[in-house]
Amino acid sequence: MARDELTRIIDDAMEIEVDEYGDDAVREFYRCLKAREFRTTRCRSCGEVALPPRTFCPACFGDDVEWIDLSRRGTLYAFTQQERSLRFGKPDVIGVVELPDAGRLLTRIDALYEELSIGMEVELDFLDVSENQTLHQFRPVK
Ligand SMILES: [Zn+2]
Repeated sequence: MARDELTRIIDDAMEIEVDEYGDDAVREFYRCLKAREFRTTRCRSCGEVALPPRTFCPACFGDDVEWIDLSRRGTLYAFTQQERSLRFGKPDVIGVVELPDAGRLLTRIDALYEELSIGMEVELDFLDVSENQTLHQFRPVK
Protein backbone atom coordinates (compact mmCIF):
# COMPACT_ATOMS: atom_id res chain seq x y z
CA MET A 1 0.00 0.00 0.00
CA ALA A 2 1.37 3.40 -0.94
CA ARG A 3 2.08 5.90 1.83
CA ASP A 4 -0.34 8.41 0.30
CA GLU A 5 -3.12 5.86 0.51
CA LEU A 6 -2.29 5.09 4.16
CA THR A 7 -2.31 8.79 4.95
CA ARG A 8 -5.72 9.14 3.31
CA ILE A 9 -7.08 6.18 5.29
CA ILE A 10 -5.83 7.74 8.55
CA ASP A 11 -7.37 11.10 7.68
CA ASP A 12 -10.69 9.47 6.78
CA ALA A 13 -10.67 7.42 10.00
CA MET A 14 -10.00 10.52 12.09
CA GLU A 15 -12.81 12.45 10.41
CA ILE A 16 -15.18 9.57 11.09
CA GLU A 17 -13.94 9.40 14.68
CA VAL A 18 -14.68 13.09 15.26
CA ASP A 19 -17.88 13.29 13.22
CA GLU A 20 -19.52 10.00 14.22
CA TYR A 21 -18.18 9.21 17.69
CA GLY A 22 -17.08 12.57 19.04
CA ASP A 23 -19.49 14.48 21.22
CA ASP A 24 -20.34 18.18 20.81
CA ALA A 25 -17.26 19.20 22.82
CA VAL A 26 -14.88 17.19 20.62
CA ARG A 27 -16.41 18.57 17.42
CA GLU A 28 -16.17 22.11 18.78
CA PHE A 29 -12.53 21.54 19.82
CA TYR A 30 -11.57 20.58 16.25
CA ARG A 31 -13.68 23.35 14.75
CA CYS A 32 -11.73 25.79 16.94
CA LEU A 33 -8.36 24.34 15.89
CA LYS A 34 -9.33 24.80 12.25
CA ALA A 35 -10.16 28.45 13.06
CA ARG A 36 -6.75 28.82 14.77
CA GLU A 37 -8.32 28.89 18.22
CA PHE A 38 -7.03 26.81 21.14
CA ARG A 39 -9.92 26.36 23.54
CA THR A 40 -11.38 23.97 26.05
CA THR A 41 -14.15 23.79 28.64
CA ARG A 42 -14.25 25.04 32.23
CA CYS A 43 -16.92 24.24 34.80
CA ARG A 44 -18.85 27.32 35.94
CA SER A 45 -19.70 25.63 39.24
CA CYS A 46 -16.34 24.34 40.50
CA GLY A 47 -13.84 25.88 38.07
CA GLU A 48 -12.41 22.57 36.81
CA VAL A 49 -10.70 22.94 33.41
CA ALA A 50 -11.09 19.82 31.26
CA LEU A 51 -8.70 18.97 28.45
CA PRO A 52 -9.86 17.30 26.27
CA PRO A 53 -13.01 19.42 26.55
CA ARG A 54 -16.18 17.89 27.97
CA THR A 55 -19.87 18.60 27.72
CA PHE A 56 -20.02 18.01 31.49
CA CYS A 57 -17.60 18.55 34.36
CA PRO A 58 -15.47 15.46 35.14
CA ALA A 59 -14.92 16.75 38.71
CA CYS A 60 -18.45 17.59 39.93
CA PHE A 61 -20.48 16.09 37.04
CA GLY A 62 -22.32 19.38 36.52
CA ASP A 63 -23.26 20.31 32.97
CA ASP A 64 -22.79 24.08 33.21
CA VAL A 65 -19.52 24.43 31.30
CA GLU A 66 -18.10 27.35 29.35
CA TRP A 67 -15.43 27.60 26.65
CA ILE A 68 -12.18 29.35 27.54
CA ASP A 69 -9.02 30.22 25.61
CA LEU A 70 -6.00 28.16 26.62
CA SER A 71 -2.47 29.38 27.07
CA ARG A 72 -0.47 29.07 23.87
CA ARG A 73 2.76 28.51 25.78
CA GLY A 74 3.77 25.70 28.05
CA THR A 75 6.73 23.62 29.12
CA LEU A 76 7.92 20.35 27.67
CA TYR A 77 7.21 17.64 30.23
CA ALA A 78 8.30 14.58 28.21
CA PHE A 79 9.10 13.68 24.62
CA THR A 80 10.00 10.76 22.43
CA GLN A 81 10.77 10.01 18.83
CA GLN A 82 8.73 7.72 16.60
CA GLU A 83 10.84 5.87 14.09
CA ARG A 84 7.76 4.99 12.07
CA SER A 85 5.17 7.58 11.23
CA LEU A 86 2.41 7.23 8.70
CA ARG A 87 0.92 10.69 8.69
CA PHE A 88 4.10 12.72 8.99
CA GLY A 89 7.65 12.31 7.83
CA LYS A 90 9.83 10.07 9.91
CA PRO A 91 11.26 10.29 12.40
CA ASP A 92 8.47 12.18 14.11
CA VAL A 93 8.56 13.65 17.60
CA ILE A 94 5.66 13.54 20.02
CA GLY A 95 5.61 14.98 23.50
CA VAL A 96 3.64 15.90 26.57
CA VAL A 97 3.32 19.63 27.13
CA GLU A 98 2.37 21.06 30.52
CA LEU A 99 0.01 23.99 30.08
CA PRO A 100 -0.23 26.48 32.97
CA ASP A 101 -4.04 26.48 32.86
CA ALA A 102 -5.03 22.96 31.81
CA GLY A 103 -2.54 20.29 32.82
CA ARG A 104 -0.72 18.02 30.39
CA LEU A 105 -1.43 17.53 26.71
CA LEU A 106 -0.13 14.85 24.35
CA THR A 107 0.82 16.56 21.12
CA ARG A 108 3.13 16.58 18.13
CA ILE A 109 6.39 18.46 18.62
CA ASP A 110 7.62 20.35 15.58
CA ALA A 111 11.36 20.10 16.23
CA LEU A 112 14.25 17.69 15.99
CA TYR A 113 14.58 15.31 18.93
CA GLU A 114 18.16 16.50 19.48
CA GLU A 115 17.00 20.11 19.95
CA LEU A 116 14.69 19.26 22.85
CA SER A 117 15.12 19.14 26.60
CA ILE A 118 12.72 18.58 29.49
CA GLY A 119 11.36 21.82 30.91
CA MET A 120 12.00 23.98 27.86
CA GLU A 121 9.40 26.54 26.88
CA VAL A 122 7.26 25.61 23.87
CA GLU A 123 4.59 27.47 21.95
CA LEU A 124 1.48 26.42 20.08
CA ASP A 125 1.25 26.02 16.34
CA PHE A 126 -1.49 24.60 14.13
CA LEU A 127 -1.03 21.86 11.56
CA ASP A 128 -3.49 21.33 8.72
CA VAL A 129 -3.34 17.62 7.97
CA SER A 130 -6.19 17.65 5.48
CA GLU A 131 -8.84 19.97 4.14
CA ASN A 132 -11.06 19.23 7.14
CA GLN A 133 -8.61 18.39 9.92
CA THR A 134 -6.30 20.66 11.86
CA LEU A 135 -4.19 19.46 14.78
CA HIS A 136 -2.30 21.23 17.54
CA GLN A 137 1.45 20.98 17.75
CA PHE A 138 4.13 22.77 19.73
CA ARG A 139 7.64 23.97 18.99
CA PRO A 140 10.43 25.41 21.12
CA VAL A 141 10.24 29.16 21.75
CA LYS A 142 13.15 30.78 19.96
ZN1 LIG B 1 -17.35 21.13 38.15
